[in-house]
Amino acid sequence: MTRAAAGAGAPSDPSAGVEAALALWRGLAALPPRPSASPALERARELAAGALARTLRRHQLSEERFPLTPWEEAGPHALEGPDGAVKGHAFLGSPPTPPEGSRGRLRPMGEFRVWGYRPWRRWAVWDAAGRRPQAYVAERVDGPAVPQAVPPGSACLPRLAVGADARPLLERWHAAGAEVTVRVALARRAPTARGVNLVAWPPLPPRVVVGAHLDTVPTTSGAYDNAAGVALLLAVAASLPPALADTTAFVLFDGEEAGLIGSEAFCAAHAGALATASFVNLDGVGRGELLEAWIWPEALDEVAVAAFEDGRPDPLRLEVKFPPPPASDHMAFAARGVPSIMWTVDDQEIIHTARDTVDPRMEANVRRLVPVVASTVRRLSQAGRGGDAGVPGDPLVP
Ligand SMILES: [Zn+2]
Repeated sequence: MTRAAAGAGAPSDPSAGVEAALALWRGLAALPPRPSASPALERARELAAGALARTLRRHQLSEERFPLTPWEEAGPHALEGPDGAVKGHAFLGSPPTPPEGSRGRLRPMGEFRVWGYRPWRRWAVWDAAGRRPQAYVAERVDGPAVPQAVPPGSACLPRLAVGADARPLLERWHAAGAEVTVRVALARRAPTARGVNLVAWPPLPPRVVVGAHLDTVPTTSGAYDNAAGVALLLAVAASLPPALADTTAFVLFDGEEAGLIGSEAFCAAHAGALATASFVNLDGVGRGELLEAWIWPEALDEVAVAAFEDGRPDPLRLEVKFPPPPASDHMAFAARGVPSIMWTVDDQEIIHTARDTVDPRMEANVRRLVPVVASTVRRLSQAGRGGDAGVPGDPLVP
């Protein structure tokens, strides 16, 4: 789809923009889970495209395609021991075990940092001769098993996530040296499927790109992760003064949950424009009161604090994370030297679960974050990029 910009005109009244954005939020969260290449994601993109077209009348809306290999559940995922079994979730992108499962003995391997910052326990399943791992099990210490993408650098072995309730069995099987069987049954579909980023390109060269991912993992409709981020993006787009909107691009990414594939594709396709732009990532507006800014480089401390003070998102508190956990689309940009800030209200209790559904606390937080994000866009636009005109404070990179 390519739609020509239709007519001129300022963004509409900001409060109308927020209501339209929240209507989109509820519409997206009412859809089934929308992993990459699913019909539900296609429907989500139609809804979002309509809302973007009505909000950003001077932007050029287009779908940018990139190769993507989707997977689907092909059976139960579990760890079985001599006296019981634990159900879990496969890591997305994990190779399947043979039909009879992968067998071996549990060996504790220290820590597994989920999304680069949440410490889970890491187990390997070693073959009978004890020579090498056959599979991995990541044990969440603070909640149920949830699916997530295999992190970069992982061995190409079956990989299972289990919840905190699995701990007594794991401990017992390990202590007894018991033989266990891991079953992971993810099927890869034909790699003909395409990922699709929905891009609203401004009439002038972009100084800031604002992004949010539209896809979810297969276990949730994702009101918090990340329909709320999409709604926040739309509300911010409606609230910017026309001159600022004219230098701001907006992107709804596909493939974030598949390992940041969509943002990688966007960065590769727009390297020239990104040489003079900054990135704002909106991923996860949860129910809590801790607002996090994940920044790169550290010089963005000033922008994060000033935008927070401008927006006065009472009663939210600010916590800045540097270096940023590599857990979302900002990482594709930061890795290429693009100054990047992610705003999030992390909600570990419901992330990637069926409990991630619409909640008035999420709605209130979206409303609070609109002026914070709008101020971030304004400040990053004014700071510019490169040399002495770079982001205020320290040099971007040594
Ligand atoms: Zn997310």
